[in-house]
Amino acid sequence: MRRFVFPVFWAVLLLVSLLPASLAAQTRVPAELKPSAEQPIDAGATAKIRRYTTAPEFNSPLTDYLPASATVPSPSAVLGDVAGAPGILPYTAEVNRYFRMLAAASPRVRVISIGTSEEGRERIAVAVSSEANLEHQEENTARLAQLADPRLLKMDDAQAASLITSSVPVYYITGTIHSPETGAPTALMELAYRLAVDESPYIRAIREHVITLITPVVEVDGRDRMVDVYRWHLAHPKANVPLLSYWGHYVAHDNNRDAMGMTLSLSRQVLDTYLAWHAQVLHDLHESVPFLYDNTVGDGPYNAWVDPILTNEWQMFGWTNVAQMTKLGMPGVFTHGDFDTWSPGYLMFMAAMHNGVSRLYETFGNGGADTETRELDASATSRTWYRQNPPYRTVSWSQRNNNNYEETGLLISLAFTAENRELLLRSFWEKSKRSITKPEREGPAAYVLPADDRRPGAQAELLRVLQLQHVEISRADRPFTVAVERDKDTDTDKDRDKNKDTDKAKDKTPTPRTFPAGSYVVRMDQPFSRAADALLDRQYWSPDDPQKHPYDDTGWCFPALFDTEAVRVTDRQVLAAPMSRVEAPVRLRGGVSGSGPVLLVAQRGDDAMFRLRYGLGDATVDAAAEPFKAAGRDYPRGTWIVRGAPPEAVDAVSRAAAEAGVAVDAVAAAPKVATRPVAKPRIALLHTWISTQTEGWWRQRLDLLKIPYDYISTQNVAADASLATRYDVILFPPVGLGDPQRIVSGLPMWGEPMPWKTTPETPNLGKIDATDDQRPGLGFAGLDHLRQFVEQGGLLVGVEDTAQLLIATGMAPGVRVTNAKSLRVVGSVLDARFPDPTSPIADGLGDRLSVYSAEGMSFELSNAAVGGWTEDEEDRPTGRGGPKDTDVPQGRPAEPPPPTPAKVERWEARPLRIEEMRRKFSVIPEALRPRTLVRFGDADDLLVSGLLEHGGELARRAAVVEVPLGKGHLLLFAINPIWRGSTIGSHPLVWNAILQHVSFGAAGAEKR
Ligand SMILES: [Zn+2]
Repeated sequence: MRRFVFPVFWAVLLLVSLLPASLAAQTRVPAELKPSAEQPIDAGATAKIRRYTTAPEFNSPLTDYLPASATVPSPSAVLGDVAGAPGILPYTAEVNRYFRMLAAASPRVRVISIGTSEEGRERIAVAVSSEANLEHQEENTARLAQLADPRLLKMDDAQAASLITSSVPVYYITGTIHSPETGAPTALMELAYRLAVDESPYIRAIREHVITLITPVVEVDGRDRMVDVYRWHLAHPKANVPLLSYWGHYVAHDNNRDAMGMTLSLSRQVLDTYLAWHAQVLHDLHESVPFLYDNTVGDGPYNAWVDPILTNEWQMFGWTNVAQMTKLGMPGVFTHGDFDTWSPGYLMFMAAMHNGVSRLYETFGNGGADTETRELDASATSRTWYRQNPPYRTVSWSQRNNNNYEETGLLISLAFTAENRELLLRSFWEKSKRSITKPEREGPAAYVLPADDRRPGAQAELLRVLQLQHVEISRADRPFTVAVERDKDTDTDKDRDKNKDTDKAKDKTPTPRTFPAGSYVVRMDQPFSRAADALLDRQYWSPDDPQKHPYDDTGWCFPALFDTEAVRVTDRQVLAAPMSRVEAPVRLRGGVSGSGPVLLVAQRGDDAMFRLRYGLGDATVDAAAEPFKAAGRDYPRGTWIVRGAPPEAVDAVSRAAAEAGVAVDAVAAAPKVATRPVAKPRIALLHTWISTQTEGWWRQRLDLLKIPYDYISTQNVAADASLATRYDVILFPPVGLGDPQRIVSGLPMWGEPMPWKTTPETPNLGKIDATDDQRPGLGFAGLDHLRQFVEQGGLLVGVEDTAQLLIATGMAPGVRVTNAKSLRVVGSVLDARFPDPTSPIADGLGDRLSVYSAEGMSFELSNAAVGGWTEDEEDRPTGRGGPKDTDVPQGRPAEPPPPTPAKVERWEARPLRIEEMRRKFSVIPEALRPRTLVRFGDADDLLVSGLLEHGGELARRAAVVEVPLGKGHLLLFAINPIWRGSTIGSHPLVWNAILQHVSFGAAGAEKR
């Protein structure tokens, strides 16, 4: 029995705990983890914990009681009940308030504000450790900083050894990045309380030998919306609960795919905190799989750029968790499973890319704090070699159960860290050292981003991403020459065509290449070389890989997706090139130079130009249809010629150009060159209420570029018969549900309305957009209004499933989605080309572009509204001769062989046959025929990065098509040009279409 203890006991404990860690007796982690019999307990809270746990085996001796404290408040001070109590989900501010109460009451807890979200909510980190550790935290951080960057110790193992024995490791836990996964905040409140007050020897060992760092709510905006929805459900228990239409401000589940692009505040703040503390572990809490899946062990293929030391650490932690929790009698704990650890896009993977240990729990949650009966799939409950004690088929499950699992797993992991702190710190040192010695170990030595890149804006964006990843960047002081492999991705476009044959032979003979001064160098002899290497290298997922269900994108090669060159250099001479560290954020300098009434903006395909257009006010802007020379300089096709900016506006233009980072040349006279107007259209971004996830990446980019637009829903479109009076361009980004019909039908209309709006009951809903009822979809009226909008002159952009919808509803005669038979693409980077490089859509782009394809979607074209598709060639019929011969009917002269059909490219429509021409109604008039603007590359070159199987089915097919309709047109994308902040290269496809929308229909028709 536990009992209350004498004050003398406390006095001794206090004395011991005030001593610096090095002087205090080193507390051993007991061989068996269990609470001390002397530990005073809070009887009331303990009874509630037991009541809220639905079966004894869903708790452990580590969490089936609550320690008592006379001075430190337990979570009930804010919650009004114990953590995980039914019906209770705290808002972010309540969670933060509790941690500040805890810090105020206990010298073992410290709260740090780590920043605010897109909507201004505070994100915190909470450090829990012994008084001595927190008092000497700065010294400890300084020691860890040297282990994190072995260059500071001249790579000396002896010096490191003394730091390893004297340092306290940092274990960073992050909660509820996914808003419907609601359990972590209360579990972490209680965990911090236990770590602060419990005097059991194993807890004391954790406290003395580990700094536990906690961000209880990662997605602070989504958390508050989720709590609103849950409270609405409590107030309306019989009604259908509104869908959580928005989690974070921009994206939902994909907030856990931003660890590459670093576009969200949560990614940047968690990484900055992780690295500021030089933490050894980043452990992210999720809820979807019963009952606890420690998924970092998962399954192959493992990411190809991590240190194998790390993958062994995954196994160590994972199997320790399984073994310990199995001993405690908790069912359904496992660590091997079908999650592959390939993509570095997950929040936890920041640790993997920065010499730490990444970990992720999936526990089982109900999406709220109700206790419910759950029925599980056979696949989740079968006994397998790695899951000997599987979850139950039917189970009554509570939030408290979930909290028990989360806390028990974490306590075991923290005790393991305390016990094995030297092992982990030595690994940390070793991994950091091996990242620095990468050039002489596995290579490469560096990546070089040449100073004369065709797209300096995209290059700057890529370098900024690396800087957000805390990767060191250098810049060459002088030109330098190193040996590089002649790889198809490192040659210039011109060379590539010239060397097509050698390219096919994959000639890897090193040849010297000189890079100009000012070229950027990403050295691999730095601590975070792996973060850079994983983003800058290419990925290959074998079609024969035993893993047949890639968990996420298989390819992400950033230089390809940014359409910028990053040359992989293995020649270690590169490290001796004269160069200086770039300390300030990489950013293009912009502004107006020269003088004269005409402004020229060289077309480089920068996002910034799109932004600049809206800063140019009412000036007349045209794009050159051809390259030209002016004032002794060469300007590429698509360069903007700005006329009629009043002299007093030049200042404003100069400011706008400086802010956008765009160089503008003022010249005396406009060049003589054919031009196309560059408009400043009125834009609407269209979303559904069933999913805003994929659209969110588009909205984010428009916001980042400060582009004015209206954010409208399918319900607004259904109610608005005069869209053309309000908008010139409607962007309809992918919905991502794989079923376009649902966009029209919306949700079933039975039951009560499902509101999404700001009310006293739901103060955090609405805001981004609002509706009285989420259920109605686009409907047939909405479809009709979209058609009218286009017919009256608008540009409607459909992407992936929204393009599929527009095709299926008859708005794009002569276009169909290719029905591929055995093609396999899973989030891959593919090669694309421009059939007509003079098309406005190609402005600022070369003759080829790497694009993101989610599933290998493509289009086929026909010149008829009915039929007219190109069929694959069939074998000759049975008859005389061989497979290449023609048959000869006997007893009559042979017919002349049919004329060889004109060669039709795969992205084109074939000429109609005589019989098809007879069906006059079906023949699409010349001016209304669809046209391919972007096509996929040839079979040999199609795969840039990721998985591609049976690519021949996709090669040379249409990727982006333009379809005239009335006075306007549709632009249909089979690829997604704006995805996860990582497809900067293909953004101009959208910006060009928007700004030059008038040139598509009319100019395009003339060409035909
Ligand atoms: Zn999750």
